[in-house]
Amino acid sequence: MTEAHLEPTQNYALLGWPVKHSVSPQMQGAAFRALGIAAVYRLIEVVPEDVPEMVAQLRDQQYAGWNVTVPHKAQMAELVDEISPGALAAGTVNTVVNRAGHLSGHSTDGYGLASAIAESFDVRVAGGKFVFVGAGGAARATSVYFAQEGAAELVLVNRTLSKAERLAETIRRTNGACRVVCLGLTDADAIHAAAAGADVVFQATSLGLHVGDPMPVPATVFTPDMCVMDMIYRRTALLEAASARGCRTADGRGMLLHQGVRSFELWTGRTAPVDVMRQALNDVLACRGNPG
Ligand code: NAP
Repeated sequence: MTEAHLEPTQNYALLGWPVKHSVSPQMQGAAFRALGIAAVYRLIEVVPEDVPEMVAQLRDQQYAGWNVTVPHKAQMAELVDEISPGALAAGTVNTVVNRAGHLSGHSTDGYGLASAIAESFDVRVAGGKFVFVGAGGAARATSVYFAQEGAAELVLVNRTLSKAERLAETIRRTNGACRVVCLGLTDADAIHAAAAGADVVFQATSLGLHVGDPMPVPATVFTPDMCVMDMIYRRTALLEAASARGCRTADGRGMLLHQGVRSFELWTGRTAPVDVMRQALNDVLACRGNPG
């Protein structure tokens, strides 16, 4: 008589503060189900000072892996046993793989953004020129990845110019051949000129998360046929303004999807069911009144 072999349930999580809004459990849950993997993906809200203790607990409890979101991505880079070159260069980890207690840290946001522009605009990173409005964690992780992947020129536009300049230093260390320009948000003419020759303009500030937020750059920056992607995963006022001026636009759900796809593949070693994950993401966002 043969004994049925049941795989033990694997545990995964998202660590952040706050995390209640996250749609990753639905997206990852759908992927695990589609591939017949018994797994649970939990949301764990943890304050920064408790992150080291939480990581020790997850390691002890043999969690197979976890995602990391604001504000813990830089801290997680210090807590893993091994770090991928991309995550090391940017100093940020959003995906941890636990193999028998050995933690490896990765950053999948840049891969997510690169996949999203390929899908939405048929644009490749290598040799391209990109404008990032914002120089926070999301812009850091993705722009450093773009430099690693051979972007020719990156323009960093930020309210706090010194932060853009610090990021530019990291990018130059990563790829000395990549031209980097830093601009303040008030430098409207220079932003206009930079955006005109760019393959894609990214909105990577937190402005737009709340309805009624002002736009970080004036609508006059946008010209017909320009590609504009907002990392926020809903139609923001900025996307509406760009669209009204004839731009090709996309919100941040493609980035969200593909960073999750890469996390899934790092955890499981299997090809992620991208369309299943996309459908789950769209369904949950539509349920929340955000049809895209
Ligand atoms: P962050 O590290 O807190 O950075 C915030 C950025 O927004 C900084 O550049 C900051 O400029 C700027 N900013 C904030 N308030 C501003 C204001 N009133 N005026 C002008 N600029 C302002 O946040 P983050 O993690 O980089 O996230 C940025 C955005 O990306 C968020 O909207 C987030 O939802 C989105 N995101 C999307 C994905 C995805 O998968 N689609 C992934 C990650 C993040 P200063 O430096 O001057 O403060």
